[in-house]
Amino acid sequence: LEIVTPRDVIESIASIVQSDALLRNVTCRFALETTSLVCVDRNHLKQVILNLVSNALDAMEDSGAGTLVIAAYDDVSNHNVHIDVSDTGPGIPSYMIDRIFDAFFTMKEHGTGLGLAICQRLVTEFGGEIRVFSKGFGTTFSIILPSVKE
Ligand code: ADP
Ligand code: MG
Repeated sequence: LEIVTPRDVIESIASIVQSDALLRNVTCRFALETTSLVCVDRNHLKQVILNLVSNALDAMEDSGAGTLVIAAYDDVSNHNVHIDVSDTGPGIPSYMIDRIFDAFFTMKEHGTGLGLAICQRLVTEFGGEIRVFSKGFGTTFSIILPSVKE
């Protein structure tokens, strides 16, 4: 593991995210308000964010449009950093939400059902966690990582 800023990691994948979104008629916004450092494998953190982005774009596919937001901010009082990936897709029904992190759980015809299982494993290896919020419309996945002192 290495010490990185979430801002640098997100900025390093911003152009690929922008072009993936554009190809699928999705508007993409970044809101990077974090100055924290975290201890992660940089490439694994990129993979986690890109998996969440890929799911978000899939979720907006049917409507043919949408908005993807990647936000990062410091939770100073809890010594955490949040990286949120939000979409304006249909959301995740509550009866499914407990199963989406299970390996091989997929609702897609050609899905592997491995994306979120891998995301969860990698984030746990960084000492963090992933939470999901979805209430009827849109979904937010939140990667929560402990921040390290400079
Ligand atoms: P896969 O993408 O191969 O289906 P994942 O583990 O990445 O596997 O996701 C599992 C399932 O969780 C998806 O098939 C989908 O039903 C649901 N899901 C994940 N992200 C979202 C999202 N942003 N909006 C709606 N459903 C989602
Ligand atoms: Mg996936």
